Amino acid sequence: MTGEMLPWFALVLLLAVVAIVWALRLTPPWVSTVPVDDRDVCGDEPCEVMHCRTCRAPRLSSMHADGSHTCLTCLTTTAGDQ
Ligand SMILES: [Zn+2]
Repeated sequence: MTGEMLPWFALVLLLAVVAIVWALRLTPPWVSTVPVDDRDVCGDEPCEVMHCRTCRAPRLSSMHADGSHTCLTCLTTTAGDQ
């Protein structure tokens, strides 16, 4: 009985592995720097890619009127240029 089920189980397992590998390939690392969801967080404020000290990398940031900007990745608000 188990001898008949084994090929099917192996096939399903193979398809699952292929699907996981494919899903990982569809999400390249650069997508995480500017997530699509973060664009909605900007709202009425302009968004620009600014260097974030916390992330230590360029991040999409929401620009505020006082010159400060909030990193949309770690949500750290930097002090504006006084
Ligand atoms: Zn950050």
